[in-house]
Amino acid sequence: MLIVDLINRDVASENETKKSMVTMRILYLLVFAAFIIDVLLAGVEVIDRFPYRIFGLLAVNIIFFILTYRIRTRMAFILFIGFILTWTISMIPCFGWSAGMQNYFIIILMLCFFTVYDRSLYKFILSGSVLVMRILLILLFGGTKSVASISSICDKLLQITNISTVFISIIIISYIFSREDNEAESKLMKYNDQLKKEANTDRLTGLYNRRRAEEYLQELKDTGYTGAISIAMGDIDFFKKVNDTYGHDAGDVVLKKVADMMLENCGDNSFISRWGGEEFLLIFKDVNGDDALVILEKLRRTIQKNTINAESSEINITMTFGLTEYNIKKDVEYAIKEADEKLYHGKSNGRNQVVY
Ligand code: GH3
Ligand code: MG
Ligand code: MG
Repeated sequence: MLIVDLINRDVASENETKKSMVTMRILYLLVFAAFIIDVLLAGVEVIDRFPYRIFGLLAVNIIFFILTYRIRTRMAFILFIGFILTWTISMIPCFGWSAGMQNYFIIILMLCFFTVYDRSLYKFILSGSVLVMRILLILLFGGTKSVASISSICDKLLQITNISTVFISIIIISYIFSREDNEAESKLMKYNDQLKKEANTDRLTGLYNRRRAEEYLQELKDTGYTGAISIAMGDIDFFKKVNDTYGHDAGDVVLKKVADMMLENCGDNSFISRWGGEEFLLIFKDVNGDDALVILEKLRRTIQKNTINAESSEINITMTFGLTEYNIKKDVEYAIKEADEKLYHGKSNGRNQVVY
């Protein structure tokens, strides 16, 4: 892992991030490897003809790489551009135009946008200059043949090596500079989902809260849903007594257990919310009043039958429900009021019942 440590080592300047420098270090290593392969493919003849040029450039590559530990990013960027320009221009006569050295200019273009922290105008001017230099290369060196006799297979391999290096460089630059943005974006999306969920949920019971229930009814109205909707208001009987007898914490456990029983017994078409305190609003979509009555009767009996263990006490409770069919042509408030009145009726009429 020595190589990873070497690449990842921090920059000398305290007020700079190392992202750009790490990118340039990787690029130096890549270009170095490509350089060696290019020279090997072109053969000894090239080394014989241009020994100073080749070994000089290799030495400069190593020196500039080492300098990335000592200098500021901006300086390193200028040196990198200088190196790529010199390398490209001096190697075109060695390997020939067809080897594709000129493609390395694209790396400079990418770096102009990602590693330069200046105004956009400066970036555009810089990239424009890269384009001008690239065009000048065509005018000056376009179609140049290699001074060495390179076989057609080696020429193709040279092309493959250089274009692959350019592609890999672009992938690395794009990856390094897009990674954090993508991570931040996906974190933000998850956080938003979480916030939305919390805003819609009652903390104690995990049911939807009143805000979400009102929103849900409004959504049904807005989408012009014409199927059957039944609405029920449920309230735990003598809940104050539960609190007074067993304590508030036990009361909380009861609320949670009652919520669980409602979720288990009301089916997939139900939308169950904690309306407030020990009151719950149940909405049944695509279920008419008669069918909702059957569901609620079963739920009421289940609640009555089950003993709830809370804070080492065994608690039996009952619940009263007021049920009505909701017509979306009428106001939502009207339907809720109707369910509430029926619930009140059930309360004054002995509790533990569903009034429809
Ligand atoms: P009724 O049968 O007429 O509904 O009688 P009740 O005692 O259930 O009704 P009342 O409205 O008098 O009392 C409701 C109680 O519910 C009072 C309040 O302290 C309690 N309560 C409301 N929210 C919570 C809660 O989150 N946790 C606990 N433990 N108790 C709560
Ligand atoms: Mg009550
Ligand atoms: Mg109440």
